[in-house]
Amino acid sequence: MHYIAASILFIFYLAFCWFCWRKYEARQQQLFVQYQTESAASQVVIAYASQSGSAAMFASQTALQLQAAGMASHRVSLNQLTPELLMQAKTLLVIASTYGEGEAPDNGDRFIARTLGKLKQHSLQHLQVAVLGLGDSSYQYFCGFAHQLQHGLQHRGAHFFTDVIEVDKLEESALRHWQYYLGQISGQSHYADWSKPEYGQWKIVQRECINPGSPGAPVFHIKLIPIEGATPVDAWNAGDIAEIGPGNSEQLIQNFLQVLGRETIPQEKLLHSDLMISDDRFAQLKTLDDDALLASLNELPHREYSIASVPAENSLDLLVRQVKIAPEQFGLGSGWLSVHAQLHQPIRLRIRTNSHFHSPANNCPLILIGNGTGIAGLRSHLANPVRAGTSNWLLFGERTAAADSFFNSDILHWQKTGLLTRVDRIFSRDAQPGSAHYVQDLLQPNAQEIQRWVKEGAAIFVCGSLHGMAQAVDVELRNIIGAQQLEMMADQRRYCRDVY
Ligand SMILES: Cc1cc2nc3c(=O)[nH]c(=O)nc-3n(C[C@H](O)[C@H](O)[C@H](O)COP(=O)(O)OP(=O)(O)OC[C@H]3O[C@@H](n4cnc5c(N)ncnc54)[C@H](O)[C@@H]3O)c2cc1C
Repeated sequence: MHYIAASILFIFYLAFCWFCWRKYEARQQQLFVQYQTESAASQVVIAYASQSGSAAMFASQTALQLQAAGMASHRVSLNQLTPELLMQAKTLLVIASTYGEGEAPDNGDRFIARTLGKLKQHSLQHLQVAVLGLGDSSYQYFCGFAHQLQHGLQHRGAHFFTDVIEVDKLEESALRHWQYYLGQISGQSHYADWSKPEYGQWKIVQRECINPGSPGAPVFHIKLIPIEGATPVDAWNAGDIAEIGPGNSEQLIQNFLQVLGRETIPQEKLLHSDLMISDDRFAQLKTLDDDALLASLNELPHREYSIASVPAENSLDLLVRQVKIAPEQFGLGSGWLSVHAQLHQPIRLRIRTNSHFHSPANNCPLILIGNGTGIAGLRSHLANPVRAGTSNWLLFGERTAAADSFFNSDILHWQKTGLLTRVDRIFSRDAQPGSAHYVQDLLQPNAQEIQRWVKEGAAIFVCGSLHGMAQAVDVELRNIIGAQQLEMMADQRRYCRDVY
């Protein structure tokens, strides 16, 4: 009898211990989630899915770039990304490898079913996302897992800074492009490139401000040619990007040398070096000899510009909007191209192949939507000889018709030749109160016509501002065409965006 009573007591004791332990565990889990979500609320979450370690490595480099800009982040593997973290975070940066035929790496393979699957349709509307996909284009489902993640997050209402940035076999220019978006997210565009671009030597042969009198910042039409030889006919494709290696202004170099107290260093040796350095670093630089000092400086980060022309036009054309930081201080890239670089001076330039924005291989109709300098990336498709005889519809928005009708003579010419079947331009500062102001406002009134063009096989190309324009255009297109069909068009490369 005693044994039975003792056993029952012991079982109750064990059950009590188990109950306490479970309660403790639950509390610990709750505290852990609370800790994670509290920090996620104020931070960016970086989630990676890595098979061979590359995605994890780029996740830590991403965290370091944000940290250098004063922005904290919280790094987890994709399988550790809980619904609670997703609900609390404001910005999510996903770095995801794909291997085999669109498969997920081991530390990301449960995320879609276990985490996204638990979330309701519009539950991630608060979240801004960017996805970096690592893959190998010789496989059929290139970056397939990254695209699955994008679709899954998009279905739950998340907003995207840009389309998936695809990195083919660790191609460096795509990683530099990712760095551009990190610069946008952190508000700090002064970072060191993870890899130095191999620049060619070009020169500016023509530079003209094309919007005098505009209420917006000055925009320059800049023509470049290679320093040596003619422009090869296959130098770039319509839709490609020029990566520029900016230089410092003469004034900045002189100030730097003066503060350093060195007259022995020739100015040209400092032209492409990053001279924006802290006081502590200055003190350290003063202790070095000239060679060691030059070797210790970083190269200035690159800047990207959509190419507006095609090689057949014999010049590489850019539309650059000047960014002014202070009365006599300009943005690094736009200041270099619009003010500091002299005509015929060597310009460091490299072409970045931007295959997701190339003209469609077939002769399908194109709906081209853009604002501001975004017209550069759209113009190259119209100038592309392979587009002769096709139907194209341009929808463009800027500030005033009088000052900001960029490439007006080209547009009028292409309307006459029939290349531009339809043109709708809208100028916000000319608009009457209560009427349409921006290019996105042109879409709903033309919904039926857009549906008709899409039914007839049209592709949609969007170029220009990320903030304001691209996201609003995306919302309108989802309403007009349907979210699922728009995603299908994106998968088929019939909905292509180049936004910044
Ligand atoms: C794919 C791609 C294509 C691009 N195509 C073009 C193009 O065709 N034409 C073009 O002009 N630009 C284009 N850009 C943007 C361009 O790369 C630079 O970001 C832009 O010229 C500003 O750089 P900056 O070096 O002059 O200024 P930075 O030195 O980078 O910036 C100085 C300061 O101004 C802020 N700032 C930067 N840009 C802006 C802005 N637009 N509005 C308000 N504040 C800003 C920054 O936060 C920073 O604090 C493109 C970008 C990408 C990624």
